[in-house]
Amino acid sequence: MVDIVMKFGGTSVADAARIRASAELVASEAARGQSVAVVVSAMAGETDRLIALAEQFGGGLGEDETDTVLATGEQISAALMALALRERGLKARSFQAWQSAIFVDGPPGDARISGFLTEAVEASADAGVIPVFAGFQGIDTERRVRTLGRGGTDLSAVAIAAALNARCDIYTDVDGVYTTDPRIEPKARRIDAISHDEMLELAAQGAKVLQTRSAEMAKARNVPLRVLSSFAKPGEARGTSVLDAGGIAERRIVSGVAYTRDQARIILLGASDNPAIAAEIFGALADVNIGVDMIVQGRARDAGTVNIEFSVDRRELGRAMTVMEDAHGDAREIIHETDLAKVSVVGLGLNRRADVARILFRALGSKGIDVKVIATSEIRISALIANDAVEQAVRALHSAYGLDGEGG
Ligand code: ADP
Ligand code: ASP
Ligand code: MG
Repeated sequence: MVDIVMKFGGTSVADAARIRASAELVASEAARGQSVAVVVSAMAGETDRLIALAEQFGGGLGEDETDTVLATGEQISAALMALALRERGLKARSFQAWQSAIFVDGPPGDARISGFLTEAVEASADAGVIPVFAGFQGIDTERRVRTLGRGGTDLSAVAIAAALNARCDIYTDVDGVYTTDPRIEPKARRIDAISHDEMLELAAQGAKVLQTRSAEMAKARNVPLRVLSSFAKPGEARGTSVLDAGGIAERRIVSGVAYTRDQARIILLGASDNPAIAAEIFGALADVNIGVDMIVQGRARDAGTVNIEFSVDRRELGRAMTVMEDAHGDAREIIHETDLAKVSVVGLGLNRRADVARILFRALGSKGIDVKVIATSEIRISALIANDAVEQAVRALHSAYGLDGEGG
């Protein structure tokens, strides 16, 4: 049986001192009688270094051998963490994906966890040997190592916690989930408790403190999460609890502001006003797994025609434009724009507030920030703006929606 899965991100295992400090946090939980399992990321900067290495040989993200290179980052930190725990007199051993039997499917660089045979790990924990998992990886049906996408160790940790019926503590370099990225807005406030729904939406809109798919799995499997600082002394971390909405006393309208840089938009001018055309365009993008956001369709100047526009991740623009060459319906012209970012305000109560859009336009307008596209849903409102205005926009929205705290 495992009570707590403790995940340590790159900055929490960045060097020998950080690994030892994180090992001290593990030792402190073990001393309280908790049965723990540990999941680690690669040392800070290591995954980027490995990507660059693979690229020297033409190995891009999404290639099988690139995945094999990338998985070594976590292999090293898992073994170092096991050694650091042993240094403290604890028993520990590392588990690589093929030893922990975490199975995945899907493409290299973006694999999905499909199964986890928990016996070996549970036997280790039951024998008092702390299992230390290399995060971010699994093995496919051909026993090849696959990685889970950037930030994927969060997903490893949540999936392991779900399978072991344990709580999941995510240790990182901030002491919880804030109302926005505290590196951009010093007035951001730490949130004591947040619902799975709000957390998922913040993550999906760019709050990288939790990888989106891990937030998705935490919600789907109802895994209780905490986000904590690995820089705090044992027992002193305050953190944020991510819970079922029912467990949260404080009800707020807006929970936070998130942003995603490097967006692009594609505009199809003068397509005929026929839903089959939009279906063809978005169907073709979906077929090649390109995520589309912020879709707007409006009447064009020529009678019976419409303009259709949507945003995609900047890195997908090339592929999306290639798809559009075939699947553009009967659009007269296709144009695109880059250097965009998306800022989003997230809150379960947003739909109860009639003036959300006015606040957004006023806040951004007062800073001279041009809103290119706006989209709303029940729990968020997003605007597409220029990339270089993103920090100013985040701060303006944070203040306009009443989120500013004492800091700064
Ligand atoms: P790790 O390496 O531990 O996985 P990450 O760098 O992936 O850490 O995530 C932590 C970072 O997330 C913080 O340093 C912070 O800059 C950023 N961040 C973005 N949005 C938020 C937010 N709403 N609350 C807290 N941190 C945030
Ligand atoms: N090391 C991987 C990355 O940098 C996975 C992770 O840190 O979660 O994306
Ligand atoms: Mg991360």
